[in-house]
Amino acid sequence: MLTVSWIVCAAGGSLFGSERELSRVFCQTVEKIKEGMEDNMKETKKYQFWFCTGSQDLYGDECLRKVAAHSREMAEGLNASGNLPYELVWKPTLIDQASIRRTFNEANNDENCAGVITWMHTFSPAKMWIIGLQEYHKPLCHLHTQYNEEIPYDTIDMDFMNENQSAHGDREYGHIVTRMGIERKVIVGYWKNAAVSGKLADWMRTAVGIMESSHVRVCRIGDNMNNVAVTEGDKVEAQVKFGWEIDHYNVNDAVAYVDEVSPGDVEALVEAYYDKYEILPEGRDPQEFREHVAVQARIELGLERFLEAGDYHAIVTHFGMLGGLKQLPGLAIQRLMEKGYGFGAEGDWKTAAMVRLMKIMTQGKKDAKGTSFMEDYTYNFVPGKEGILQAHMLEVCPSISDGPVSIKVQPLSMGNREDPARLVFTSKTGPAVAASLVDLGNRFRLLVNAVDCKKCEKPMPRLPVATAFWTPQPSLEVGAEAWILAGGAHHTAFSYDLTVQQMVDWADAMGIESVVIDKATTIPALKNELRWNAVYYR
Ligand code: MN
Repeated sequence: MLTVSWIVCAAGGSLFGSERELSRVFCQTVEKIKEGMEDNMKETKKYQFWFCTGSQDLYGDECLRKVAAHSREMAEGLNASGNLPYELVWKPTLIDQASIRRTFNEANNDENCAGVITWMHTFSPAKMWIIGLQEYHKPLCHLHTQYNEEIPYDTIDMDFMNENQSAHGDREYGHIVTRMGIERKVIVGYWKNAAVSGKLADWMRTAVGIMESSHVRVCRIGDNMNNVAVTEGDKVEAQVKFGWEIDHYNVNDAVAYVDEVSPGDVEALVEAYYDKYEILPEGRDPQEFREHVAVQARIELGLERFLEAGDYHAIVTHFGMLGGLKQLPGLAIQRLMEKGYGFGAEGDWKTAAMVRLMKIMTQGKKDAKGTSFMEDYTYNFVPGKEGILQAHMLEVCPSISDGPVSIKVQPLSMGNREDPARLVFTSKTGPAVAASLVDLGNRFRLLVNAVDCKKCEKPMPRLPVATAFWTPQPSLEVGAEAWILAGGAHHTAFSYDLTVQQMVDWADAMGIESVVIDKATTIPALKNELRWNAVYYR
């Protein structure tokens, strides 16, 4: 009913001169919306990384010429490998305190520079690195590699040794970084090895997550659900530690944007939905079904405009605080997540920010399988088929879908609004990470579980929500016990496209505790780790 009246209003109003004009504008809007559906990530900067080689002037010009030529060849080779998600920018060899300090400060000031990768081709006395490192405040990686792969047994002499002594020089440099207590990533191996460039690629994504963390802005249009503990947290400390701005609005501030969306825009988006997704009316009247879908289209456009107006990258809702919204945002939130927005339900701003960051960290990844907000729901305890059914009331990101994505309209047992439209699908198989950021009162802990995603054994025709199914490592029994002992939440930020190591590196850079649950986890060792961490992070 709403949709029909909006079309009448638009056609009869002063916005469009004639029916033909309406039709032209409408078609353009549909095209624009379809284009937008392909571009499914909010853009970040065109980040670059600097490749800085250390040496000194003890070895003469001939040696330094070779050092420069080698490091340039390495930077070019790594760029040409096709393995790096961001460009590596070669920098002139650093041979003294002044050049080191200047380069690190230039890196600080270059807004496209997301990190510096250091490598000592020769010996480079580390005292001259102190002031530069003290002043540097971006992600730091130490690539402990070497120009040559093999020792040239037949020709090696002392000139070669002086020129190629990374095993020597990198230890001197590593010592001072450790002594200064600076967090950095160390990657060891031959630079042409795909495993090494793969680790560098992973770290670059983590570094972008570190850089972008300070820009994350979370829009809360619902507070934390009453009496729920694990979604709570210290927002001041989150801004100190992570840089996140976590703002609150009355939900009706956003509703004003939702109400302002033009009927033409709503109808164009509904049309795009009907093109893209399977429609499963399941006995509902087709027109009534479409009207429910149109409510979500209106909410998607209104919320997106509200978020854009406030420059927000993540959103938090609460099914119990919907104000003038006619439905709990379901399909609308699912599509905003697919566009790159973070999301947390029931006021969970920590998970919303993590979902946003993890989406940025995986941005542009070839053959990406998806990143979503997720919730642990129901177990399968059948021996040999153990796992956790993952879902939420509605809000699972379609980027993780496998196979067709359908729209259903079903009642929601909670809240007091009309039946919401939602996208329904099952998810991909394979390894993934589930991360939970919890506030323990005196510190944040990032819990990271390596999980193996599987197909559900059977279809669930009566379950009208998107799902995933996984077995936590090392097993459901140990994984769930470890998760509970470590205080993990029922909400997670989930991705197929990040590794446990990337999440741990991010936590390390943020100066927070991380706890990993994976194949190596045993309960006695985990309990000791938690006890020791409690002392360390006091
Ligand atoms: Mn929930």
